[in-house]
Amino acid sequence: MADTYSPCPSCRAVNRVDLERLADGKAPVCSRCKTPLTLDGAVSAVDGEGLQRLVSSSPRPVLVDFWAPWCGPCRSFAPVFREAAARLAGEAVFAKLDTEQSPEIAGRMGIQASPTLVLFQGGSERARQPGALPLDRLVAWLRQSAAA
Ligand code: ZN
Repeated sequence: MADTYSPCPSCRAVNRVDLERLADGKAPVCSRCKTPLTLDGAVSAVDGEGLQRLVSSSPRPVLVDFWAPWCGPCRSFAPVFREAAARLAGEAVFAKLDTEQSPEIAGRMGIQASPTLVLFQGGSERARQPGALPLDRLVAWLRQSAAA
């Protein structure tokens, strides 16, 4: 099923979102407090706390793009990440974290390159990829890492 999970930026509840219903033009809101969710396609923008909530409660692998607004490669990678999220909906959950807005989590995780991709599974880090990947390699890397 084409769904994903998205943490509410207000009450912090992790929402299951049916992406097929979004395709009808419905704006996604938190089922608990009705705050709009930070979903762009199938990618949630998260902060440090949202990331922790999502990683600890998602039943599927969570791929996080640690990016920065000043980083050119991050901006060119964004549409690739968005496309991968659409292609792998129902298989993995996609989120992006702005390391300039949340420098403490980026520091704690030792993020050095921009962008850096981190795959979480079962609440902890499973694999890490410093630097952007083309779409096909990204999909292959994620599937291989999640199955390992
Ligand atoms: Zn909420």
